[in-house]
Amino acid sequence: MPSNESKLTVVGAGLVGSLLALYLARRGHTVEVLERRPDMRRETLDAGRSINLAISTRGLHALRQVGLEEEALKHAIPMRGRVIHPVKGELAFQPYGKDDSQHINSLSRGWLNKFLMTRAEETGRVSIRFRQRVTHADPAAGALTVLDEATGETRELRDAVVFGTDGSGSAVRQALQSQPDFRADSETLGHGYKELTIPPGEGGRFQMEKHALHIWPRGTYMLIALPNEDGSFTCTLFLPWEGPVSFASLQTPEALEAFFQEQFPDAKALIPGLVEEFFSRPTGHMVTVKCAPWHAGGRTLLLGDAAHAIVPFYGQGMNCGFEDCVALDALLAKQPDLGQAFREFERLRKTNADAIADMAVENFIEMRDSTADPRFLLEKGVEKV
Ligand code: FAD
Repeated sequence: MPSNESKLTVVGAGLVGSLLALYLARRGHTVEVLERRPDMRRETLDAGRSINLAISTRGLHALRQVGLEEEALKHAIPMRGRVIHPVKGELAFQPYGKDDSQHINSLSRGWLNKFLMTRAEETGRVSIRFRQRVTHADPAAGALTVLDEATGETRELRDAVVFGTDGSGSAVRQALQSQPDFRADSETLGHGYKELTIPPGEGGRFQMEKHALHIWPRGTYMLIALPNEDGSFTCTLFLPWEGPVSFASLQTPEALEAFFQEQFPDAKALIPGLVEEFFSRPTGHMVTVKCAPWHAGGRTLLLGDAAHAIVPFYGQGMNCGFEDCVALDALLAKQPDLGQAFREFERLRKTNADAIADMAVENFIEMRDSTADPRFLLEKGVEKV
């Protein structure tokens, strides 16, 4: 384990960076977290990636280790299976397991991120500095160049132990590219995504089945919806960038409304802000990143999306990143040599991360296509709802 005097710097106060800071603090370290965005607890940020997300056993296990699972679950909505919405006809329910104990949970990304930041700070050992963008790094030396976006000033950090949790477009990963043995494959999906809202009904009631992940599978594209605590659902429309039915083909309100009327008539009736939201909200990209090595010189280590960005169709990106924190914590407990600990971390995590990355792409095909196939429905023991 590094000595408690080591300067530990976490780059990125997203979901994984905030949880990692908490884990490191619990081992007695003082941790500085550098986050390029303003503090989301004080300022409303532009709509970013996914309003809610699914947290599963892996992620909950990581929260349990630091005593946060119970509070997180108070804000989560169990989803016991998928509700499939055909173009016409009855809805079908595909349970996730034999009984209700097997479920995933819908949780607000913003709430979870704020919660983790606050709990990390409450240890008294974590300071999160906002509007601090890492622009350059020397991974083997543990050196960072940091731009203060509030003042425009730049400062240099030296001799730090750096944990790069700065997401799929990681600047720390970028810097690792200067290492002779580093390789990275990045594959952008030919689909993008857009978030839309089904507001709560009268008196805050859910306008569809609350305890389910809703899917409108349509072959090359699909719509999904996850429930929120306030009775609303956040829908995500996944569409190809180009082609006959694509973001490129839906350029006018008329085209969009006609498309929804034809393909998602029940959802259209529940999304009053369809046109406004579709044309004003950003369209998200999705990328798979596989890279190695994740570390340099016992000074720098990548975790979370920075090490292994995956497409969201297994709902496992954050869950895997949380599992990284558990794995690293266990290694730091027994391995005083950081170089060894980082190597062992990569050995333990890389095969799993690569496997889930491939499974996530495969699950896109299952979700958008096979969930609507009658043979698939039969195999899965589907119930009507
Ligand atoms: P991020 O969440 O990207 O956080 C990175 C942080 O680093 C950010 O705060 C960013 O501002 C900061 N940063 C970036 N660059 C710099 C820099 N140069 N200097 C300083 N700070 C910087 N996962 C699940 O487990 N379940 C789901 O249901 C799920 N649904 C998803 C739905 C969608 C549409 C998408 C796109 C993803 C989904 N994911 C899901 C994946 C999940 O969002 C990611 O795996 C998770 O956010 C990774 O966390 P992270 O902390 O590694 O990265």
